[in-house]
Amino acid sequence: MSARILIVEDEEPLTLLLRYNLESEGFDVESAARGDEAETRLKESVPDLILLDWMLPGISGIELCRRLRARPETEQLPIIMLTARSEEGERVRGLSTGADDYVVKPFSVPELIARVKAILRRAKPEMVATLLRAGDIELDRETHRVRRSGREIHLGPTEFRLLEFLMQSPGRVFSREQLLDGVWGHDVYIDERTVDVHVGRLRKALNKHRRASDPIRTVRGVGYAFNEEFRLRA
Ligand code: CA
Repeated sequence: MSARILIVEDEEPLTLLLRYNLESEGFDVESAARGDEAETRLKESVPDLILLDWMLPGISGIELCRRLRARPETEQLPIIMLTARSEEGERVRGLSTGADDYVVKPFSVPELIARVKAILRRAKPEMVATLLRAGDIELDRETHRVRRSGREIHLGPTEFRLLEFLMQSPGRVFSREQLLDGVWGHDVYIDERTVDVHVGRLRKALNKHRRASDPIRTVRGVGYAFNEEFRLRA
C-alpha cells in the first residue's frame, strides 16, 4: 500500500503513535499540527485520506473539513475526524460537516487502521489492492513482482514504484514534477530529467519480451501517463 495519509493533530504523542503504526502498515504519512498549516499544505498537494482532529490551533478541524468539502479538488477526499470524548455529543455536527467517519479519543489504533482501510477500499480500491492488473501487466505489491503476459519482468526499486504509481491512475497524465513528488517524495531534490531516465528503463523492461504495445504514453510538453486501454480490471 502506498496511500498517502495526512494527520492533522496538535497532540504530538498521538501524531507519533499514529505515524508509527500507519507507516508500519505501509502508508506514506505526513503530519501538520495546525489547521491553517494543513490547509496551506492541502492546496499544494492532496493526500488519499486525512485524519483530522476536531480542536486545532489556527483553523478548527470542523471548519477545515467544511472548507475542504467546498473545494472541487478536495470535495471527495476521505476524512476521518478525531474527537475527544467530551465533544462526542457534537458528533452529528461533525458528520454534517462532511466527514466520512469519526473516531472518539482514546481509540484503539488497530480499529482506526481498520477504518482507514475500509474507507480507502471504498474510495480508492486500487490503493489497497495487493494486485494491480492492467491489460496484460500484473503488479504484486506484496511480493514486488511484475509480470507481463505471465512472464516475469525484472525492475529496479525505482522503476517498480514508478509503475505502481502510474498504474494507480490509468489514463491520467502526470508532469515530471508530480512523478517526482509521488515516486521519490517531496523533500528530495532530483533533476526532472531523472524521471525521463527511469521512465526509459521502465519502458525498456516492460516491452522487452514481445512486440506488445507500449503501455506508457509520452505526452509532449506535459509528462507521462499509463495508457487508458490498460485500465484496471475491477
Ligand atoms: Ca486537539
